[in-house]
Amino acid sequence: MKTEIPVHEALAIVRQHAKPLAEKEQVPLARGLGRVLAEDLPARCDHPDVANTAVDGYAVRAADTEGASPAHPVALRLVGESPAGRPYEGKLGPGEAVAIFTGSPLPEGADAVVAVEHTRREGERVLVFKPGSAKDIRPKGDDFNRGEVLLHKGDLLTPGRIGLAAAMGHAEVPVVRKPRVGILSTGDEVVPPGEPLPPGGVYDSNSYAVAALVAGAGGEPVILGRAKDDRTELKAQLAAAGELDLLLTSGGVSMGEYDLVRRLLEEEGEIYFWKILQRPGHPPIFGRYRNTLVFGLPGNPVSAMVVFFLYGRPMLFAMLGRNDPPYRRIRVRIEDFFKGAKGKVAFRRAALEYRPGAGFVARSAGNQSSGAIRTMAEGHALVAVPPDRNLNPGDEAWAIPFDPEALGAPGLPEAF
Ligand code: AMP
Ligand code: MG
Repeated sequence: MKTEIPVHEALAIVRQHAKPLAEKEQVPLARGLGRVLAEDLPARCDHPDVANTAVDGYAVRAADTEGASPAHPVALRLVGESPAGRPYEGKLGPGEAVAIFTGSPLPEGADAVVAVEHTRREGERVLVFKPGSAKDIRPKGDDFNRGEVLLHKGDLLTPGRIGLAAAMGHAEVPVVRKPRVGILSTGDEVVPPGEPLPPGGVYDSNSYAVAALVAGAGGEPVILGRAKDDRTELKAQLAAAGELDLLLTSGGVSMGEYDLVRRLLEEEGEIYFWKILQRPGHPPIFGRYRNTLVFGLPGNPVSAMVVFFLYGRPMLFAMLGRNDPPYRRIRVRIEDFFKGAKGKVAFRRAALEYRPGAGFVARSAGNQSSGAIRTMAEGHALVAVPPDRNLNPGDEAWAIPFDPEALGAPGLPEAF
């Protein structure tokens, strides 16, 4: 068993044990958001499938409208129209025009378009004040061609990718099965929210916070409830977890007398590592109980969340085969004091602000106790304080945002 290992080594070990899931399922596109593609997707059509117009106006032959101007308009004979979905059947002859509308196919024989604002309709005649041009024609396959692979195995389905899959002709998409992740809170003092709180009791925040993180990483959380600090009960819960891809426990992994998770793994499973050189989140344990991968998160609410975020999230990404990174780092300027830790990386909760010209600046989100969950709600990121030092105003450091998409100044640029 390895112990007191650095962050990068812990990350390498969890990734090594998180095997990509082989099972796929077909889901209707409308249910695809947030799922991960299990196969490459080729386009089933050209897009557009025929040349069409980007503007409302008239399809013409460029040669007919050469030299047209407001002073010397060219008169063309209107022979029909080509609304979207109902193409003009005939062929455009010399001196003829066909009315067209954004997205409608260009009739055969036409090689140019005149936008409606450069024309005047006079009965069956169209006066053209400007030469027709091809710049408003979207050629066949302008966006993509049939057979092109535009979406790849491991791609997270975003709204843009769902739109693309639909445009490529896919009604359903093959996605990776969601990893099933059991969440078991341990501790005699832990009480479900909603029940009366006995003296010395603590509401179970870990089950809910970690379940939300699991769902956010693309997994399916299975809240198993609470196990007492009792060997028999805990053992039964661990043994029942065989259907899961991963079991997360919280509490019971530090040095205390009641730290049963660690002892059960020690006696009836295998421990890959115990304790990481970081704070908060020093005591996690990672191993296997019979056939189930088990990640023992610390009981402290902040530690449980930070440890899942840093190690559990990359595990789920690996199981899903996701192409996108589980987190991102940004460079920030410190505007506050962040206390470090001896021999350990300290991950401090920070509030980030985007300052035009200065980039991101970081202030402490407040109480940095690993029991103080309030700052997980009020902060945006973890600032990494290197071992054996503090960060002071003016220093630069790395921050890992909880939600990189939530960064940046709100709203559109002022000029809009
Ligand atoms: P432990 O790791 O079991 O020693 O717990 C460390 C601290 O975390 C103690 O103060 C516990 O009361 C608290 N704690 C343990 N489990 C939970 C939980 N599910 N929700 C909130 N706090 C918890
Ligand atoms: Mg406990």
